[in-house]
Amino acid sequence: MFGLIGHLTSLEHAQRVALELGYPEYADQGLDFWCSAPPQIVDNITVTSVTGQQIEGRYVESCFLPEMLANRRMKAATRKILNAMAHAQKNGINITALGGFSSIIFENFKLEQFPQIRNIKLEFERFTTGNTHTAYIICRQVEQASKKLGIELDKATVAVCGATGDIGSAVCRWLDAKTNVKDLLLIARNAERLSSLQSDLGRGKIMGLEEALPVSDIIVWVASMPKGMEIDSTVLKKPCLLIDGGYPKNLGTKVQHPEIHVLNGGIVEHSLDIDWKIMNIVNMDVPARQLFACFAESMLLEFEKLYTNFSWGRNQITVEKMEQIGKVSVKHGFRPLLV
Ligand code: NDP
Repeated sequence: MFGLIGHLTSLEHAQRVALELGYPEYADQGLDFWCSAPPQIVDNITVTSVTGQQIEGRYVESCFLPEMLANRRMKAATRKILNAMAHAQKNGINITALGGFSSIIFENFKLEQFPQIRNIKLEFERFTTGNTHTAYIICRQVEQASKKLGIELDKATVAVCGATGDIGSAVCRWLDAKTNVKDLLLIARNAERLSSLQSDLGRGKIMGLEEALPVSDIIVWVASMPKGMEIDSTVLKKPCLLIDGGYPKNLGTKVQHPEIHVLNGGIVEHSLDIDWKIMNIVNMDVPARQLFACFAESMLLEFEKLYTNFSWGRNQITVEKMEQIGKVSVKHGFRPLLV
């Protein structure tokens, strides 16, 4: 059985969907309440591969909200993630994806130091961040969507915002090794990590966001920002492809211009309907088929009976592992979202 640990994008979002999920007592509660709410299994999932194989899974709502980070409720945030992991393990789930901020909190707060959760000792090999599949899907979106829009990669400048992150660095490695992009712009805040990435890649220009926006043909957003940001679309090149891979989305508002194409990054579409209700509440256009690539990674590991923390730690994702997960993604009928 596979598992998905997820969370909602804001307090307002959580209050709105509590009713839909059958928890009316959560609907008018504030942040304090969510800080103390325990994890819940709120969905049973059946996925059928195009090979005919069928698997079962569970969705674990961690009750974490990004406002906990913004309001410095760090203890609550870390407890949410560890408790959700313990809940997944207690329920016999073999491989569970840490969605959205779950893996970021796990890494940033070094939660591997705290494996004992009451009477449960967390077995980390039962969890995956899902970031290898997410990075692979974002790279395929860059390759395929640019082609559709007539942006030639060998003449294109690609900016990666969040370049030093787990997903961002993997995207940079793939773009360097597997494509002929003309220029790669590396954007993040920490200068030391940027220089180290640049020297590992042996290429890439370190740039501030404001400087990068007007010169980029493609911008990949994979920064871990608890709230979306506004960008001034008048400064962007036309045409321009924006791939927003963040959760919550990195871009606050829909950019409206016929030559600026915004794509939901790190999202896959399955070839067959998935039997679940959870994707309705995260506003997917086709909830029966569209999902986060990190969640799909735990499904793929379950299909392949690869019970291992396939994506783990930070900045360890290799192009070979991206190719490996990419192959089984195609085999079981997942494809990158392109509209
Ligand atoms: P990491 O924490 O590993 O990396 C985050 C990156 O963003 C770092 O490079 C960080 O560098 C940079 N960053 C953070 N804040 C800012 C800012 N304000 N401006 C510029 N850069 C910034 O995160 P992940 O790679 O694990 O995840 C990235 C995003 O992808 C997250 O939003 C996550 O929720 C989402 N995600 C999506 C998935 C999907 O299935 N679609 C799956 C998993 C994650 P620095 O701190 O130096 O600025």
